Amino acid sequence: MNMNESSAATVNCDDAEIRKFEKLASRWWDPNSEFRPLHEINPLRVGFIAGKTNLAGKRIVDIGCGGGILSEALARQGAEVTGIDMANASLAVARLHQLESGLQIRYEQISAEALASCEPGSFDIVTCLEMLEHVPDPRAVVQACASLVKPGGHLFFSTINRNPKSYVFAILGAEYTLKLLPKGTHDYGRFIKPSELAGWTREAGLDTGELIGMSYNPLTRRYWLGRDVDVNYLVHCTRPADGAQTP
Ligand code: SAH
Repeated sequence: MNMNESSAATVNCDDAEIRKFEKLASRWWDPNSEFRPLHEINPLRVGFIAGKTNLAGKRIVDIGCGGGILSEALARQGAEVTGIDMANASLAVARLHQLESGLQIRYEQISAEALASCEPGSFDIVTCLEMLEHVPDPRAVVQACASLVKPGGHLFFSTINRNPKSYVFAILGAEYTLKLLPKGTHDYGRFIKPSELAGWTREAGLDTGELIGMSYNPLTRRYWLGRDVDVNYLVHCTRPADGAQTP
């Protein structure tokens, strides 16, 4: 059983995706690099998260943390953050950058599934932002996130919707026209509809809370949170406090 679990955990990672992020790793903290959109949306995401739950003193695991853009912002709010990713080069950048920032974040190369089997129910908050659309089996990651969070804890997921508009904005617009992201950053087939994500969170025993869209105006270069969930969106979930989850 354990063998199956650990081999499933190893398989649910796309090496080509990891290589893509490793190649860009040195640029994680360059606000004018390919990671510019993540830097720009970060205050919005942190505001959304902090608006749902107090962060000070909370244990947070940030799944697919990359160079630590979100992990650092959460640590600055007083949270005790663990950041995990499968790209070693990104973790090396994250570890170096926290020295500069004077923060104490635990960074580890481990999958969400593997961490869930060693440290189940140990985090007050799980964040998994802009990561699900890069894995072969996002449903298994959602399940692992549900196992990682304590009963009564909070989870935050963000990803990209799958429809003609998201193809135009997230692929043609961001990668080809505006060149905000390198070509091939996203694979349309891996985009996730809010209804699909809601199905997986429900299956994992979570309660789904607010769903909010993240929009971008290329002319003003402004991002905002709002009702339009056609392209990028964020979801807040909670694990029921009674622990009524499938073991
Ligand atoms: N969550 C960060 C970075 C998003 S980029 C943010 O929103 O700012 C997507 C990240 O997911 C990359 O760092 C990539 O290395 C990571 N990733 C891709 N597949 C993964 C996997 N199977 N397990 C853990 N991390 C993964």
